[in-house]
Amino acid sequence: MAAQLPPQIAALPKDRHGYPITFVTSIGDDGIPDFSDLDGSRRAKAIIEQLCGICGRPLHLVRAVIGGPQVVESHLTVDPPMCVECAVFAATHPVAGCPFLLSPNARYRKISADEPTSPLIAEERASTFFLARTFAHDPVRVRLSDGSEDVMALCARWTSLERISGGELIDARHLISR
Ligand SMILES: [Zn+2]
Repeated sequence: MAAQLPPQIAALPKDRHGYPITFVTSIGDDGIPDFSDLDGSRRAKAIIEQLCGICGRPLHLVRAVIGGPQVVESHLTVDPPMCVECAVFAATHPVAGCPFLLSPNARYRKISADEPTSPLIAEERASTFFLARTFAHDPVRVRLSDGSEDVMALCARWTSLERISGGELIDARHLISR
């Protein structure tokens, strides 16, 4: 069974279709949320102040990220880490729970300049997404391939790794290389 709607997501404001508007969802000048875009300053604030990227509440010790093989390999994510409950809900309800996670944003592709080297990346397609848990992250400044800098979250060791497949989470701990 999929995860129940966490109360912190239920408490979020909703758009006219009933989608929860996350902490980092970009809001246009017309007040309409754009789920395909992240609000850059709120994204950085969440990473720096250790707030959940979905509900905006302070993170507990264990937090989770959702990302592709590159995120799992590098431990670097442009999307802020999330409460475990929020992340599990988003992973298992990709449409209703968190539309922004459906479309990995262009900023992420922009930073993926380094060639992947691990068996993990060789094995998994880029469209594969994982939910990884960790107990800490640090904000780091990363220089992007276009010369600009941005804040990203550098995560500590993964304490669990699950592949997201059709709204289910499948243990993928065997793919953790470090
Ligand atoms: Zn949360």
